[in-house]
Amino acid sequence: MKCPHCGYSDSKVLDSRDTADGIRRRRQCLNCTQRFTTHEKVQRTTLFVIKKDRRREPFQKDKVLNGIRKACEKRPISGHDIEKLADEIESELVAGGRAEVYSSAIGDMVMAGLKTLDHIAYIRFASIYRDFADITRLKQEVDSLAEAGAPASASAEAVPSKQLPLLPGADNGAVKMGWRRR
Ligand SMILES: [Zn+2]
Repeated sequence: MKCPHCGYSDSKVLDSRDTADGIRRRRQCLNCTQRFTTHEKVQRTTLFVIKKDRRREPFQKDKVLNGIRKACEKRPISGHDIEKLADEIESELVAGGRAEVYSSAIGDMVMAGLKTLDHIAYIRFASIYRDFADITRLKQEVDSLAEAGAPASASAEAVPSKQLPLLPGADNGAVKMGWRRR
């Protein structure tokens, strides 16, 4: 289990707790000393993900986690919140007892979660994940979020006054006009 903060592969267990479906462990990274939680559970059935190209592959929480992390890069979102979102998505999928799930459904769950955490991370994920038909639609999405105001989560209070650019190389606060289309 790698540290969600620095990627170091060794941690010590501070606390273990039995939960309904496994064990929750509070860990501390031996490198950066940040704390994080892991949840070990018994794998019941293999959930398969149906991808856009119709190929199927076993569900891997790490893939969800990596997608969320990428969207949250340099944003004021704790590793704990990122892990929690991935855990919640996994739990929801497992609890559903399904054998298969479309990758688009997982993407929608990530988007719904990010929308409550951080609007920039949400837009980043959406721009990678969803094919915005054109720049106008993306701008509408950004505008609707701006009107809705900042999310009322605790992490949002830590947003620095000098916002980081939406994308690397983009000007502060501006949607990069040379938006890359896939
Ligand atoms: Zn660490």
